[in-house]
Amino acid sequence: MSFTVAIDGPAAAGKGTISRAVAARFGFAHLDTGLLYRAVGRRMLAGEPSIAAAEALTPDDLADPDALRTAAVAEAASKVAVIPEVRAALLDFQRAFARRAGGAVLDGRDIGTVICPEAEVKLFVTASAEVRAERRLKELLAAGFETDLGTVLADVKSRDARDAERASAPMRAADDALTLDTSAMGVEEAVAAAVAAVEAARVG
Ligand code: C5P
Repeated sequence: MSFTVAIDGPAAAGKGTISRAVAARFGFAHLDTGLLYRAVGRRMLAGEPSIAAAEALTPDDLADPDALRTAAVAEAASKVAVIPEVRAALLDFQRAFARRAGGAVLDGRDIGTVICPEAEVKLFVTASAEVRAERRLKELLAAGFETDLGTVLADVKSRDARDAERASAPMRAADDALTLDTSAMGVEEAVAAAVAAVEAARVG
């Protein structure tokens, strides 16, 4: 039986943490769809045309997630993500993952609107740009990158604008999504709210 949890929202809002926790709690598989766009962005930075890169993507491209989590790759990902043919090349894989037996959690920008509009649970996880930049700064510093709050905030805002304003599958909450603003929420509270939404849909 399939059961899909779609978790969308801007960068560093807490989607990844919530997705992993929900997947672990219910025994669902988890796909961070941002990694697909990051892998295409990485190939693009290495000189490959974006559409060909998306069409040629293999699981090997996702084998080293740390190499995909740099600020430069994030920026490249949001640039290739505006190209409709890139998005189209990644569609079937994501849809099949969403409907796999045993349940799936997918996090991204367009899961509840485009990839899986029939998802049983849709969450839009957000937080203020300032809070998100502070969270991302901590992650980057912990991973050994040298940067500062102003740089990270500018990156977050430019990526938000590009993701929300693009013509093809822009980032937005589905009409029937539950919005979780995690600006003033701890991790446990945010996870509990997401788990409650899944439980309600499973019972109902
Ligand atoms: O979530 P993450 O920050 O890893 O995503 C990197 C970029 O990939 C986003 O800024 C966005 O441009 C793109 N993306 C997308 N659709 C998704 C997931 C990510 O356009 N479902």
